[in-house]
Amino acid sequence: PSGMAEAAGAVVAGLLAGGHEAYFVGGCLRDELLGRPVHDIDITTSALPQEVMDLFPRCVPTGLAHGTITVLEAGHSLEVTTYRTESGYADHRRPEHVVFVRDVREDLRRRDFTINAICCGLDGKRIDPFGGQRDLKLRMIRCVGEAEERFDEDALRMLRCVRFASVLDFAVAKNTWRGLLRQRDKLAHIAVERVRAEVERIVLGPHPQRGLGLLLRSGLLPRGKAPFPWTGRELAAAAARTAGLGHLQDARLRWALLLHALGSSAAAADELLRAWTFPGATRAGVVAVLRVREAWDAALSSAAPEVSGAGELLRRRWIAAVLAHGTSAAEGWLTLLEAAGATAAPVPGAATPAAAAVPDAATSGAAPAPNAAAPVTTSQLRSWAAAMPLRTLGELAVTGHEVTAVLDKRPGPWLGVLLHRLLQAVAAGDLANDPQSLLQAAQRMDRDE
Ligand code: ATP
Ligand code: MG
Repeated sequence: PSGMAEAAGAVVAGLLAGGHEAYFVGGCLRDELLGRPVHDIDITTSALPQEVMDLFPRCVPTGLAHGTITVLEAGHSLEVTTYRTESGYADHRRPEHVVFVRDVREDLRRRDFTINAICCGLDGKRIDPFGGQRDLKLRMIRCVGEAEERFDEDALRMLRCVRFASVLDFAVAKNTWRGLLRQRDKLAHIAVERVRAEVERIVLGPHPQRGLGLLLRSGLLPRGKAPFPWTGRELAAAAARTAGLGHLQDARLRWALLLHALGSSAAAADELLRAWTFPGATRAGVVAVLRVREAWDAALSSAAPEVSGAGELLRRRWIAAVLAHGTSAAEGWLTLLEAAGATAAPVPGAATPAAAAVPDAATSGAAPAPNAAAPVTTSQLRSWAAAMPLRTLGELAVTGHEVTAVLDKRPGPWLGVLLHRLLQAVAAGDLANDPQSLLQAAQRMDRDE
């Protein structure tokens, strides 16, 4: 972000002027050396937390016990951390003891990977005791020190390893990978939120396929606290079917495609995303897309093409799905189908890309059209949806109040059912959206009950 580097430079200069050492460190250096956008700047310093606070009155003691002060400078927040070492990782996650030290190399040694253990002064001189720059050139994730030990200290590092390898499209050094495999059971000590956050960055990153491959080979996820109801084989099969994952822009659609490829029902996905502590909005968005899939699969299996009017039946069922789950979820499902290279209903017998890209009926539990005469294209579904004159109850030209008055009935659950029937009829073009037509239709529907 503009001005962040200047602000960080001012903080480093301020620390130097106060008689301390200070360097840019970690992710910002790694990303800058890789020519990637830098999203935040960490500063490491010999100054003790109190000394940092004395120099910069505008600050927040974010992690005082661990030596981290957030300094506010020119509208930016910079994390300033005192040189420290850590020890006694009793819970395989957080160190029990943090000791402030005088030598920046000691501080670099506690960091996870060589590419994250480089620091750089205001003069541009880099300190890189563990070959981080070499590993950046080699495109290699390598632990600082003994991998097995480092993963034992903090099991989250194993997922960070996979995440960096995936996001940066790097290889993992042999010893580091071996250490990871030996320590993978320790993932059971890591809080679900932490695991989810790392897996999110893998799946939503630029090379999700690479990440899935590494996750698969690492065997990490089934060892975590969060439920993981698939075998390695199932995950491998799903990974092979999600080639389009990296092209989906929408996070919700990446999860939906993945869960779809894993054969998860909407209800199972809902439960799983909840257990994985996904935010409610993400979960609802993913589940809605999977519900559209289920509605569409059900429509396809019910509309036998030799029956006259099968196309019309499919149109109505599609409109019902759009009404039930929302335009955004319906559009999401179409985007997902297109990313998977599929038509909405595969031609029977023909080898469509859908067969390779999305799971078949046997694995997804959903039935594709067994005998659809012609594929329904996603653009056909899009134009059916676009032609809907309305999408919500609020757009109906009558209110529930008016309907109860005309029918002379007390409101009850019947009213919602009836309003939805009116909505569906108007949306499908069977009924004009004016009060007279709607109230007449309401009387007819009520009589036919
Ligand atoms: P990003 O911010 O893109 O995730 P980053 O490298 O900045 O990457 P942070 O989590 O912000 O990652 O951590 C900042 C630095 O702190 C890292 O570069 C690394 O040096 C160190 N670090 C972070 N987490 C750990 C850990 N679990 N074990 C050891 N060192 C760590
Ligand atoms: Mg960072």
